[in-house]
Amino acid sequence: MDIAKYKVSKGKGFSLKEYSTFPTSQCKKKERVQFLESNRLEIQNLQSKLYAESKAGLLIIFQAMDGAGKDGAIKYVMSGVNPQGVRVHSFKVPNSTELAHDYLWRVQPCLPERGIIAIFNRSYYEDVLVVKVHELYKNLNILDRCKDSDTITKRYGHICNFEQYLYDNGIQLLKIFLNLSYEEQGNRFLRRLDRPDKNWKFSEGDIKERGYWNDYQVAYEKAITATATEIAPWYIVPADNKPYARMIVSEIVKKSLEALNPEYPRVSDEHAKRLMGYRDKI
Ligand code: AMP
Ligand code: MG
Repeated sequence: MDIAKYKVSKGKGFSLKEYSTFPTSQCKKKERVQFLESNRLEIQNLQSKLYAESKAGLLIIFQAMDGAGKDGAIKYVMSGVNPQGVRVHSFKVPNSTELAHDYLWRVQPCLPERGIIAIFNRSYYEDVLVVKVHELYKNLNILDRCKDSDTITKRYGHICNFEQYLYDNGIQLLKIFLNLSYEEQGNRFLRRLDRPDKNWKFSEGDIKERGYWNDYQVAYEKAITATATEIAPWYIVPADNKPYARMIVSEIVKKSLEALNPEYPRVSDEHAKRLMGYRDKI
């Protein structure tokens, strides 16, 4: 599968409208199942090496509008990997302690140490998305110079610097935007209302945010334009078809792990000889 067409590693000139919310090609269910299973095994194998080697961490950020399938994509892609080596963190509306700190503060303890895959279900990008759309920074109890009209633009700069800092510390970044259409979001919200097993997922706030759809599209486009880099690329994944979105996500994760080229640590010849010596003692 070619994932290059979803990758944005230079933000300049990026236009969200040029990316379809629906996959251009599709395949039969049997092929899909085989594809996902084969990728799942490969991800499992690579993660095992990443963990053993502990030279690099992988941070996978998922951002999307409500109903785009973040939870499902995380569940499918990471099913079967060793839970010891994977951490998932969901970022919600900040509490008062979090709001009293700089906006990257709450992210720090969730960053992956080398050897670990961390998955962010939403992230510090909310601080240039929902915070931009509703100008929430204006409500902060903070110096006036820290909540002027340049606040969001400055944050793009902080984020680029922060991601470079992470990269320089052995953390590979992967940012996935599940690109959903307004129509399909409507269908999924209706299903949340219709199906008792999905009722719990529905929140009144989701409808309110749906009313700001266009503002969010602008905020996403600006954020991606400002923060897509070679070292921390964005992937714009068509999300209107859930099974296909999961295939693409699993391929992106697999390819990113492959690029890190993890290997099981090899012991020195001398150490190997010593190990052989232990055979007689067992
Ligand atoms: P969910 O992921 O559907 O459980 O919803 C989490 C909610 O928290 C979303 O509406 C996000 O926009 C919101 N959220 C996450 N981070 C922030 C933030 N930094 N400021 C304000 N709202 C946020
Ligand atoms: Mg939600």
